[in-house]
Amino acid sequence: MSALFLEGNPIREQIYGELGQQIAALARDGIRPGLAAVLVGEDPASKIYVASKIAACEKLGIASFHLAPPAEITTAELLEQVAALNRRNDVDGILIQLPLPRQVDARRVLEAVDPAKDVDGFHPLNVGKLVAGRASLVACTPSGVMELLRRNGIAIEGANAVVLGRSDIVGKPMALLLMHANATVTVCHSRTLHLPQVVRGADIVVAALGRPALVTPEFIRPGATVVDVGINRITDAALAENLFADFPARLAAFRKRGSAVVGDVHPSVANVAGAITPVPGGVGPLTIAMLMSNTVRAARLRRGRSPEPVQP
Ligand code: NAD
Repeated sequence: MSALFLEGNPIREQIYGELGQQIAALARDGIRPGLAAVLVGEDPASKIYVASKIAACEKLGIASFHLAPPAEITTAELLEQVAALNRRNDVDGILIQLPLPRQVDARRVLEAVDPAKDVDGFHPLNVGKLVAGRASLVACTPSGVMELLRRNGIAIEGANAVVLGRSDIVGKPMALLLMHANATVTVCHSRTLHLPQVVRGADIVVAALGRPALVTPEFIRPGATVVDVGINRITDAALAENLFADFPARLAAFRKRGSAVVGDVHPSVANVAGAITPVPGGVGPLTIAMLMSNTVRAARLRRGRSPEPVQP
């Protein structure tokens, strides 16, 4: 193994330390940031995500409000709930946990969130601000990737960055953030030709495909930095044998549980890359950290303060 592992947990703790100071400063002025989480229905994975977001709020002293409307809710009813949250002064951030049930018009609901409280950064106004280089509230996962790169001292300016995936939630905002940080950015997607060849030109690779272990060592220029955003649960024993050939402990854990979480990057890429994020434990922990950061930022901005506290 040659790559440096870019671990998310220590950086999350660093960010929480900084947020703790900002939250304490706001508390001295009688302000307590608040996050409302709307979880529609009973999806087990969504329940776990929302529970961890609420736990993070509690850890930091951010007020949290949990709405759990039934799976049968209509678009109109959900829009009413969002409007009520928009009106509340104790709510600085509104998070609508995705996916929403089929009968709900997800786009309408997401666009109904007050852009000033849009802590997921999905509203077109916030996307537009990001495009224009005046970012305010930015999607959490790509913001977390930027923190991971910056705080590990990975040079971004002038680097060739390849983003794999063009989703609204990860790929597109990721490409914009890297571009604004002066990387030369290429965005690849399901119709890209000669993918391995394109990716081999990269100093920084960000994989957000949702395809287990698609990125293999042939894609990677030796020494490149590889950020693996993918979260995929695998249950296929043959695939696990292949992925974990050099990782006996992970293979043993797979055999015991019958499943494992893997990224979009093959674990053997660690033999070629200069630095790589593990899955789990790389980008994942930073997504929630950036949600907390956006909530504190929204609390500041809504009260006419600067987005970040003034540095001494
Ligand atoms: P998505 O399905 O919305 O988008 C996937 C993108 O990958 C698409 O743009 C598609 O064009 C591209 N793609 C798919 N197959 C490809 C192929 N064979 N070659 C080239 N491009 C291909 O997914 P998403 O919401 O962007 O999520 C991507 C991954 O990141 C998923 O595994 C998801 O679970 C994970 N994710 C992780 C976090 C986190 O906190 N770590 C947050 C969000 C998403």
